[in-house]
Amino acid sequence: MRVPVAQDTSSNMMGDKMIKMMKLGKTDLTVSEVGFGAIPIIRLDRPEAERVLRHAFERGINFFDTANAYRDSEQKIGGAFAGLRQRVFLASKTLQRDGAGVREHLERSLQMLRTDYLDLYQLHQIAQDRDWDAVMAPGGALEEAWRARAGGKIRYLGVTSHSLPMAIKLARTGLFDTIQFPFNFIEEAAGHELLPIVRQLEMGFIVMKPFGGGAIDNAAVAFKFLRQHPGILPIPGFESTAQIDEVLSLYAAPNQVTESDRAVMDRYRDELGKRFCRRCEYCQPCPQGVMITPAMGYPIVAARMSAAVAPEFSKVPMASVPLCNECGVCIDRCPYELPVPQILKANYELFLKHAALAQD
Ligand code: SF4
Ligand code: SF4
Repeated sequence: MRVPVAQDTSSNMMGDKMIKMMKLGKTDLTVSEVGFGAIPIIRLDRPEAERVLRHAFERGINFFDTANAYRDSEQKIGGAFAGLRQRVFLASKTLQRDGAGVREHLERSLQMLRTDYLDLYQLHQIAQDRDWDAVMAPGGALEEAWRARAGGKIRYLGVTSHSLPMAIKLARTGLFDTIQFPFNFIEEAAGHELLPIVRQLEMGFIVMKPFGGGAIDNAAVAFKFLRQHPGILPIPGFESTAQIDEVLSLYAAPNQVTESDRAVMDRYRDELGKRFCRRCEYCQPCPQGVMITPAMGYPIVAARMSAAVAPEFSKVPMASVPLCNECGVCIDRCPYELPVPQILKANYELFLKHAALAQD
C-alpha cells in the first residue's frame, strides 16, 4: 500500500477558483467540500469521461465515488488519474453480502481503478434486516472488509442505505467511518433524524442524490439547501465540465437562503409529493414478489445511465413488475400515499420502450 499524500490545506486554489477542504468525519481524509458521483460518466466515451474527471480534479475536487456496479465508471476513473493516484481519494462500493463476493469485487475494483488501495470502501444499499444479517454473518461481507482493511487494501469502511431506520441502525453500530444517504430538500428527513447521530459519532456524511436523483433541476436552490448543513459531503453526478463549473461557482459565493428560495423548494415538494418515491422501502415486502423500490426508480436510472443502458441494468426488478395484482398493500404502507401500482405500470411501459430501442 502506498502512503497517500495528506491534503491538509484549508482550500484548493485553482487559478481564481477556490474550493474549501474539510475533514470527512474523524477519518484523516481531507476532502473537497463537493465530491464527484461517477454514475453519469458511464454515458460518456472514455476520452470524454477522462476529460471531465480531470477537469473536476483541476478545479479542486479530490473525492471520487464510484461502484463496482456502475459499468465502466471505475475503469474511466482509473484511466483519468493514472499517475495522480496519491492526489485523489477514491471511494467504491459493493452490493455483495458474503465474504467471497466482497473479495472478488474489491480485487476487480482495485484493478479497474489501477490502484492497490481504496480510501473508502462501502457496503452498498443495506436496506433490510436480511441484508444486515447476511453482512454480519460469519464469513460475511463485514468480516472480509475488515480483513482487507487490515491488509491495507481499504483505508476506511463505509456503508450506504436508502432506508432511514436502517441507516440510523447502521450508524449506531459504530462500525463504519462514513454513511452515504440521500439528502436534498425533497428528502429532508435525514437532516433531522440521521445527521445528529452521525455528527455525534463523528462519522463522515456523504450525500447521495443531491438533486433527488434527477427530480430537482435547480442546482442553485439544491445546493443552497445543502450548504445549510456544514461538514456534509455532497457527491453530485457530473457528466460535463459545464456542470462542474456551475456547481463550483455556487460554492464560491456565501450561502444565503431567501424567502424566494424557500418558495421554490415548496413548489417542488408540492409538485413531486404524489409521485416521487423516496426509496424508503416501507412498502416492502410485496406479497407477490414485486421489487417495488428499484422498479419505482426506473425513470431515474434511465435518466442517469441513459435509456440504452438502463434496461439491462434494471432487468431483474423490472421483470418482477408484471407480478403486481394491484392488491394495494404497498399503497397502505407508503407514508407518502403514492399510487404505487400505477407508477409501476407506467415505469414498466417506459422500460419496454427503452428495451425495444436498445435492441434496434
Ligand atoms: S399493489 Fe402490486 S406492488 Fe403493491 S403490494 Fe400489491 S402486488 Fe405488490
Ligand atoms: S413507494 Fe413509498 S414506501 Fe415504497 S419506497 Fe417509495 S416512497 Fe417508500
